[in-house]
Amino acid sequence: ANTHETVKPLGETFFIFDTVVNVKIYDDRATRQHFNEIEALLNDIDGKISRTLESSEIYQVNSHSGKSPVKVSNETFELVEKALDYAKRTYGKFNPAIGNLVTLWNIGHEGARVPDADLIEAANALSDYHLIEMNKETHEIYLQKEGMAIDLGSIGKGYAADAIYEYLEAQGFSSAIIDLGGNIYAKGNKPGGKLWNIGIQDPGKERGNSIGTIQVADKTIVTSGIYERFFIEDGKLYQHILDPGTGYPVDNGISSVTIVTKHSTDADALSTSLFVLGIEDGLKFIEDTPDTEALFITKEQKLYATSGFKDMLNKTNDSYTFAN
Ligand code: ADP
Ligand code: MG
Ligand code: MG
Repeated sequence: ANTHETVKPLGETFFIFDTVVNVKIYDDRATRQHFNEIEALLNDIDGKISRTLESSEIYQVNSHSGKSPVKVSNETFELVEKALDYAKRTYGKFNPAIGNLVTLWNIGHEGARVPDADLIEAANALSDYHLIEMNKETHEIYLQKEGMAIDLGSIGKGYAADAIYEYLEAQGFSSAIIDLGGNIYAKGNKPGGKLWNIGIQDPGKERGNSIGTIQVADKTIVTSGIYERFFIEDGKLYQHILDPGTGYPVDNGISSVTIVTKHSTDADALSTSLFVLGIEDGLKFIEDTPDTEALFITKEQKLYATSGFKDMLNKTNDSYTFAN
């Protein structure tokens, strides 16, 4: 591998999972063919776990709810198992059975508006993750109540980032930036052995404006925020992370949660989980999660961080101040 500091990355942009995906490989041996393979890999994942693609495994599981179990691939089975682990650990604040609520609110898509309260209640009644039955022997998934729907929107991009990481690793590429709409993996070191500088998005500004940067090597940086998928009705902002307790978008003063850790699937699940848990419970939760750092940014421009995150952060924006 070329580890010379002047190596220029080869990059490609894809549009998948409703997201702009950008992958840059810092290695002179990278070719367009590698990006074709990455695109195929992304299509394969989407073709398994998409909630809206009729041919996907998750679509099949959802459309057989209350009728019969559906056999899925190992990959899909394990991802749903992982999502269920987070559901248990967060007592259902993270909830992969939330598909009906996600469809009902339709946040981030045209025409989104506050639904009628009785429709929210009905969708919430179909969101009990305990009714997702996993058969480890047959790899069948069964949704016990008719009309239930799994939604993996909170974990799928992290899973895809890990899959790209594994692919690049197998190809012998040590330096790369994998970015799925802000769900980032900074793979290895920069060419030349230095750390990567990754900006932490200012949740109050357009993409690209940061509150500062963190220096990392071989880590994933994943943010859940209120600033990209939302709508405004009667002056109130409704963002896309829902509280399974109420069926309404979480409105707890948090603008964003950023997680830094080793596996992007976990980081994605954690960023959504901590957003719903809130600052106090979220910081407690993350204390029990090894090798993982978290940063909360509030609407009041306060920062709450684990000590490890504070150590990494080079804050450049004075409007934001540490509150813990
Ligand atoms: P992003 O879509 O920016 O990656 P997240 O990773 O936080 O943000 O995922 C948000 C998505 O997860 C929503 O669009 C929806 O599909 C789903 N979702 C919403 N609320 C929850 C929840 N409480 N638990 C699990 N998934 C959720
Ligand atoms: Mg995500
Ligand atoms: Mg997430």
